[in-house]
Amino acid sequence: MKTVFCLLLLCASFITLGNERASELPSVTHYSLRLHFFPSEQRFDAEARLTIANHTQQPISEVPFLLYRLLDVQSVTDESDSTIRFSQSVQKFKEVPTWQVNVVRVEMPKPLLPTNSTTVVVKYGGSIYGYSEVIPYVRDRINEQYSLLRPDALAYPIVSHPSFPVLLESYQSKFTFDIQATVPSGFVAACSGELLGRASERDFVTFTFESKGPVQRMIIAVAKFKVLTDDEQNLTVYCLPEDEQGAVNVLKEMKKVVEFYSSLFGQVRSYKGYTVVEIPEGWGSQAEGDYTIFQAASAFKGTNISEVYHEIAHSWTVQAKPAVHRCRWFDEAFAMYFEALAIREFRGDSVFQKHMEGLRDRWLQRTASDKRNFDVPIGEYGKFELGQSSYTKGAWSLFVLHQLVGDDGFKQIIRSLLSEFADKPADFKDFQSVAERATKRNLKKFFDEWIYGAQSSQLLADKISVNELVKRY
Ligand SMILES: [Zn+2]
Repeated sequence: MKTVFCLLLLCASFITLGNERASELPSVTHYSLRLHFFPSEQRFDAEARLTIANHTQQPISEVPFLLYRLLDVQSVTDESDSTIRFSQSVQKFKEVPTWQVNVVRVEMPKPLLPTNSTTVVVKYGGSIYGYSEVIPYVRDRINEQYSLLRPDALAYPIVSHPSFPVLLESYQSKFTFDIQATVPSGFVAACSGELLGRASERDFVTFTFESKGPVQRMIIAVAKFKVLTDDEQNLTVYCLPEDEQGAVNVLKEMKKVVEFYSSLFGQVRSYKGYTVVEIPEGWGSQAEGDYTIFQAASAFKGTNISEVYHEIAHSWTVQAKPAVHRCRWFDEAFAMYFEALAIREFRGDSVFQKHMEGLRDRWLQRTASDKRNFDVPIGEYGKFELGQSSYTKGAWSLFVLHQLVGDDGFKQIIRSLLSEFADKPADFKDFQSVAERATKRNLKKFFDEWIYGAQSSQLLADKISVNELVKRY
């Protein structure tokens, strides 16, 4: 996932400033959204039915939600339609005053006790014009060309105070969802969930979606999409009408890369197919945990198709334990390296070699602007928010390991990792143990130089070839 990272990184850089915590707040375990889009009026109406659970130790009598600054709440009710008192006011984020949000405070009719759940129905609506003054890629809006609702623009109520650390923590909690999106005839709704059906009534069409499992985010896009499908592999592409020709190619590339990763590392367990939804250039490509990729337009115009390789590669990565999650190695180093392997497969070894040299150069540029990228071992990136270097040096660590253990060894490592850690998170020691067992080799020196220590930085800076590098181990 390339762009959500920016938002989380931005949040994380303020993490020490706040003292409120989301863990003292309840969490939403299910969203049921009824959305009505009016693209020509640049607005939407929504009814959000939220299942709220109290996982804290304390009774909760007030729940704060954040919404985009131009979204107004009309009413809050309970399950039996009784009115619940609430207040709303536009406020600034403590840490970044240019980020304005509507803070909605809902007074629970009676305190929500620990372990209990309740339902709150929030009716709201309005316009969205993005947050590009705070986060450049968040250009979300409602209009006839393209409408986009994402948590990045707080398009649906998110339990949080206007504080980065709290929002960051809140983004981590998982939920299921169902969505009914009603759009004018001629428009098509696409979503990061499974399409269950579509029904027309007078001048409107309603699309029904459901999450494929617990997720951290939901995204809904509305445009005059063309839809292309491949039934054999359950692949779908939503593209803007002018990019239909490019979408044929995107679908072909998706099919190829799914087959390629599956042949190397095995099929993803409980395969559900993949959906690519085109979003305008510069709005940020994003991959969701449920096999939906929101892909910037350039991939449809013949460039940046490797972003699709990257996003699909995330399905062949494992979760990292919380202590090492912010290293971004278990997700991004792998996705970057698998993307590179797809480039080698489809475009040849010399393009692959150039691509890897490009990653090394990007890392060297980062070390020039912040020497910590050179001095801090990969295994400690999380402590200093240096996870961006997992996209470059992290990918190189896997390149060197691959060269060291050979094709069969590398495949075996990844296959073992995926099966052993399908349902639980891993850390670096887990990975080392999997790698050593799978290849029956002692890899201590490699892990000491590339993961736990930073000797590898000098080797990279000296631009030693990978064939020479592996002779050390
Ligand atoms: Zn990624």
